[in-house]
Amino acid sequence: MKTKIAVAKGDGIGPEIMDAVLRIFEANEVPLEYEFVEMGKSYFDAGHSTGMTEAAKATIENLGILFKGPMETPKGKGVKSINVTARKVWNTYANQRDFRSLNGVQTVFSKAGVSINLTIIRENIEDTYGGIEHMMTNDVAVGRRIITRPGSAQVIRYAFEMARRKGYKKLACGHKANIMKLTDGLFLETFYEIAKEYPDLQASDIIVDDLCMKLVSHPEMFQSIVLTNLQGDIVSDLCAGLVGGLGFAPSANIGDNISIFEAVHGTAPDIAGRNIANPTALLLSGISMLRYLGLTANAATIENALLYTLEKGVHTGDFGDRSVPSKNTSEFADCIIANL
Ligand code: ATP
Ligand code: MG
Repeated sequence: MKTKIAVAKGDGIGPEIMDAVLRIFEANEVPLEYEFVEMGKSYFDAGHSTGMTEAAKATIENLGILFKGPMETPKGKGVKSINVTARKVWNTYANQRDFRSLNGVQTVFSKAGVSINLTIIRENIEDTYGGIEHMMTNDVAVGRRIITRPGSAQVIRYAFEMARRKGYKKLACGHKANIMKLTDGLFLETFYEIAKEYPDLQASDIIVDDLCMKLVSHPEMFQSIVLTNLQGDIVSDLCAGLVGGLGFAPSANIGDNISIFEAVHGTAPDIAGRNIANPTALLLSGISMLRYLGLTANAATIENALLYTLEKGVHTGDFGDRSVPSKNTSEFADCIIANL
């Protein structure tokens, strides 16, 4: 039986990379049925303040899985970013980003032969992202940071479950509890509280600045790391840099009822409409979605075809060996399909 999921192609390079990924899925006969939903910039323009129609919202809530391309939120009052809607309204409290070095993708570590395989779990709702800020005087701005025990517990528990499922041996908590004793202190305390339920995993903590230093010098020290929202945002982009950049950074926003799979990068307006974007990050997001849905055989076959294709030196214009001519988006997808 086919599982039905909601798909939104998105704006900018979104439709090009989504078409490439869905073509690869089709070639592998992935047992999924797609319901394309009305969501993105043009729906803001048509007067929908959340950037999606009521029907799209209902479909996503009904199906529980959204596979989405990047979207543009117009600037201005009265519009809410789709990402904010997704995180807050649908309570997708854990942002998971898997980073691994891929043969054929140059990074600062390639020459040293260091191989990276790590997962960052970022809390997705609380912290400074509530936007509770005001000017106290003309020259003094004040912002509030909110960390709650239940909010911390749900993402930390997810992180431990994820680590166990992936066969990791350890999970670290990144924090700044030495300075922010109450907020980060609560997150850290909750981490060790929940760690007691997972004696099979080695739990440790590390101050976030030290973590950054160690990630860029010895990334192989870590397997999985859980962090609060803002620190997690910064650390996960750092990790994207470790594995070759935005073109290789997949992401999943996980909630109890709704989960959203998307690439970390944006709409890349500078290259949109030219069929030259790199679909790898969206494909990697799609592969983790297949695993999440239990379609592990399809996920493995597609992942192997991708890894093999990259290893053979096939690349789009944004990475790889400059002396080898690059492929456009659809040719790159064709090569992966040929290697399935
Ligand atoms: P947005 O506001 O939607 O985030 P942006 O202008 O910030 O758009 P990004 O999508 O974040 O652009 O991309 C930043 C840079 O990385 C751009 O130069 C873009 O062309 C490049 N880039 C991003 N994604 C890809 C991709 N999949 N393939 C190739 N280049 C990409
Ligand atoms: Mg951007």
